[in-house]
Amino acid sequence: MRRNIIAGNWKMNYNLSETEDLISKLVSGLKDEKLNCDVIICPPFTSLSLASSLTKSSNIKVGAQNLYFEDNGAFTGEISASMILGAGCEYVIIGHSERRTIFAENDEIINKKIKKALSSNLKPIFCVGETLEERESGITKEIIKRQVVNGLKDITEKNLENIILAYEPVWAIGTGKTASPEQAQDVHNFIRGIISNIYSKSSAEKLIIQYGGSVKPDNAKELLSQDDIDGALVGGACLKAESFIAIIKAS
Ligand code: PEP
Repeated sequence: MRRNIIAGNWKMNYNLSETEDLISKLVSGLKDEKLNCDVIICPPFTSLSLASSLTKSSNIKVGAQNLYFEDNGAFTGEISASMILGAGCEYVIIGHSERRTIFAENDEIINKKIKKALSSNLKPIFCVGETLEERESGITKEIIKRQVVNGLKDITEKNLENIILAYEPVWAIGTGKTASPEQAQDVHNFIRGIISNIYSKSSAEKLIIQYGGSVKPDNAKELLSQDDIDGALVGGACLKAESFIAIIKAS
């Protein structure tokens, strides 16, 4: 039985005082709740230490939004896995479509980042998803298969247990257009089949596959009730305590 995971990707939003404000609302809003899911927040790098200390005795875990695959050195502007770990994180988002498109990250880079996260005891939230053009050309599954297979290259079945996969159709991210529950379920089921082929049926059954793309309080329940959807990666709606809590409670 898989337990849903709801993760909030804050993207490039919120300074320290805004971080404190949102987290204090989340901590107090969730403290007496018996949750049916795990909750992760992924603030910007500058807020990670603060977020970790503010969530210390709560039911909220912290993740970063990216890492670089080298340990240290002349990589101006980059952040290593051990720095993220030192800031109190347990998770890290890897391969978000904004990293793939705006920052030109390809499958090979993403694979290196996933491996670095795993070898550093960070759990990757590994994102895959097709563009609108790819969906309209009928190659969604081909794209997803390529991203999943290449992203997981040389990753052992044991290590797979520490990976969360997130299916995020690019056309649904930040656009207000959500994949229908049936469209999302179809791709999630397809991903589980790929995992079953690469690894085993039991690993595929255990893998958490989140859906991401304009998840809101009013569509969360229907999406999360699909057999192969095990939580959500939430962008816009995680920036307000009220809407993020409503999504968590819909789980
Ligand atoms: C995201 O950035 O991962 C995301 C799903 O964003 P939004 O919920 O705003 O579509």
